[in-house]
Amino acid sequence: MKYLAMGEGPDAYLPEEPEHHKPAPTVFYGRPKVYFLAICLTCAASAGTRPTPMPFGTQDARDVWAAGHRAGAGHHVDEAVEVRP
Ligand SMILES: [Zn+2]
Repeated sequence: MKYLAMGEGPDAYLPEEPEHHKPAPTVFYGRPKVYFLAICLTCAASAGTRPTPMPFGTQDARDVWAAGHRAGAGHHVDEAVEVRP
């Protein structure tokens, strides 16, 4: 049997999770505001900018836009949801 040295195990190469990559807290007071986001990675790449989420008030509106943008422009659109206090 081979003994693993410190830092040699399967977990040794998992990077430390940076603080700013941790999900925001989901417990807060008040009424939540939900944003349905469409993020076009192709538009951002061609503009040379960071991907900018486009907020929609409903999931249907977001899905319709994302499907239309994929079909019309052939772009890669990510979909996400953001909940804020
Ligand atoms: Zn696009």
